[in-house]
Amino acid sequence: MIRCKLRGVLLAVALLAVACRGSGKAEVAGELIADPHGGDSGRRQPGAPNAASAPAAREETDPSRRGDEKISDLDRSVEDLFAAMCEHGKKTHECDECRYEVGVVRVPEKLVQGGLVKKASISRRRVEAPIVLTGEVRFDERHVTHVSPRVEGIVRKVHATLGERVRPSQPIVELESVQLGEVESDYLAAQAALRLARSSFQRQEQLRKEQISSEKEYLSARHDLEAAQIRARSAQEKLTRLGVGAGEVERLGTAGRSAGEGALVVRAPADGIILEMRAVPGELMKPDESIVTVGDVSSMWVWADLHEEQLGRVLDAQRGGKLRAEIAVKAFQDGSFPGAVDFVGPAMDERTRTVKVRVAAPNTDAKLRAGMFATVRIFLPGQEEALAVPRAAVLSDEGRSFVFVHHHGDYWVRRPIEPGRRWLDWVEVKHGLSGAETLAAEGAFLLKSDVLRSKMGAGCAD
Ligand SMILES: [Zn+2]
Repeated sequence: MIRCKLRGVLLAVALLAVACRGSGKAEVAGELIADPHGGDSGRRQPGAPNAASAPAAREETDPSRRGDEKISDLDRSVEDLFAAMCEHGKKTHECDECRYEVGVVRVPEKLVQGGLVKKASISRRRVEAPIVLTGEVRFDERHVTHVSPRVEGIVRKVHATLGERVRPSQPIVELESVQLGEVESDYLAAQAALRLARSSFQRQEQLRKEQISSEKEYLSARHDLEAAQIRARSAQEKLTRLGVGAGEVERLGTAGRSAGEGALVVRAPADGIILEMRAVPGELMKPDESIVTVGDVSSMWVWADLHEEQLGRVLDAQRGGKLRAEIAVKAFQDGSFPGAVDFVGPAMDERTRTVKVRVAAPNTDAKLRAGMFATVRIFLPGQEEALAVPRAAVLSDEGRSFVFVHHHGDYWVRRPIEPGRRWLDWVEVKHGLSGAETLAAEGAFLLKSDVLRSKMGAGCAD
């Protein structure tokens, strides 16, 4: 019994300890999940000490016991719970050891003020009617760039790898292009012709000064030079259009690069991560193909198909502001991702009779991946109103839903509810609350974990 009391005290201070640690919230959540069935471990194991050796006196003092079956605090009235007396001769809710039996948790007011547990009231909310669509996650095209070569060529070298961060102008892929080689040869020929025309002109100019050549010969040489300059410039522009940088043009024909090699370096267009890489050495790439995608995934798009009969409702609702949406993917079945409708397509697919709708979703932890299939719920404001509580307030244990309701002072008691429809942050309450109660919202799980811990601790009533 002494051992048990000691443990009881340790458990009672656990909630306070959490508050002091501050950064320990995640650990507490972890402890909670570690034994979700701890709440009734005593009853499930007939051989456990409390079931086998519970003192008879306890049964007499506990009005909730009917034979071997204990009535859950969720099935007793609040008055009954707060009037109950424990085996220590105290009111059960005031006894640090027995409080859990009546589903009551004591939370010092300073913890509530410190923000560990947030209070919430129940509100009548307009029911947001969701429409459910199927869609696919894609890159947010505002944040990515697809790079294609401007000329057909075979991949000779790949300088960057998938997932690598690249800087603007960093070489990514090197191609060898017959077409580019021809343009380079044209450029080099034009350069040679220009040099010849220039020296010829200079000679004619000198001869003219010395009054040896005729005016006609001089003008002809000048014309040839001008024509060669135009051809050289045009050849250079052609190279630039194909993606050859100015520095590379200058190096053409000099050491390290032979004439007409047709080597094209594809460079990163902007700062970002290589999200897709299709270039494989030896493969032929065409100008209309994206060989690499560079960008970031801090936000994603989800494209979904909106049926013709849903279009009018969505467009009407959009006039009232951005429509909220929720995205669910198979990879993360426990949660969903918030988003907002930011575009409804202008064209209808004639075959499927659907219109594309785009949902933008923040993706800071990069869980959403391009190509994932998604279920998209778009919430349209409805006319009907319902009693609703914040999602964080609704907890469940052994298949029953409940909330913690503030009773008086530091005391909170868990009360059963029948949840109805669920929205992004709200849950409809069909039964169980009048609407006047104050609830524990964020942090409510700490109250639940306190009850669970106490129940587990009660397993040592020897
Ligand atoms: Zn007691």
